[in-house]
Amino acid sequence: MEKAVLITGASRGIGAQVARGFAANGMRVALAYHKNHTKAQQLCEELNQQGATAMSFAVDVTQDTSVQQMYQEVCKQIGAPDILINNAGIAQQKLFTDLSVQDWDRMMNVHAKGAFLCCREALPYMIRQKWGRIINISSMWGQTGASCEVHYSAAKAAIIGFTKALAKEEAPSGITVNCVAPGVIDTDMLNSFTNQEKQALAADTPVERLGTPQDIASAVLFLASEESSFITGQVLGVNGGFVI
Ligand code: NAP
Repeated sequence: MEKAVLITGASRGIGAQVARGFAANGMRVALAYHKNHTKAQQLCEELNQQGATAMSFAVDVTQDTSVQQMYQEVCKQIGAPDILINNAGIAQQKLFTDLSVQDWDRMMNVHAKGAFLCCREALPYMIRQKWGRIINISSMWGQTGASCEVHYSAAKAAIIGFTKALAKEEAPSGITVNCVAPGVIDTDMLNSFTNQEKQALAADTPVERLGTPQDIASAVLFLASEESSFITGQVLGVNGGFVI
């Protein structure tokens, strides 16, 4: 039977494109979303019409019990995931001096705690079967830091440290753990930017364009494949040369 993959943040943007990629490769796909039930459902219908097996599951990745319930439901409906993509995320631009404790906690919880909770559910099965792939979506800002995004940069840097440590621990169990660190990718996450600001970001990117969700999906699919079995604990920058 083909492998099962669980993707968080799969209702739109990068996660949705990653889901399309896995579905096109014949995998059973669990699309986890937070609030956008309609979009997640539409994507499932799109994939199922193409002959895939895709189902959507609501979750708040910051909540332990929500992640547990979602994972159990995924196991029932799709089968235990062989591959986990921790992609759910939020963005916020604020001066550091304006950040509230709530802003900080929310950012760390969605990114770092979310990845922790999802891995905690997924790993026992992967360890038992001695095969697994975990791919965490960080950001180039986790590598370099971004002004007015201190909490986002810190959360994305946490994901890099988490990835490296977990990779060492799980490698003997046949599980690879890697990060993709996207550059500026044209999704809803850029909605707070004007077109002019987006053009400036594209101009700052050596390949002279914004990234697409497909750029990230291609990297994720490679890291999830058998061909990448000697790659673990790595941060793959997919940023058009923005950070080298
Ligand atoms: P997006 O279009 O804004 O989508 C965000 C996704 O995360 C949505 O599916 C959303 O679900 C889900 N989500 C948010 N909070 C959640 C929660 N508490 N529990 C579960 N799911 C939650 O973002 P994107 O651009 O595709 O970004 C995907 C990932 O790439 C994020 O981790 C982001 O930080 C990272 N990234 C993006 C860029 C970029 O330029 N776009 C650059 C670097 C890194 P609902 O739709 O159901 O609310």
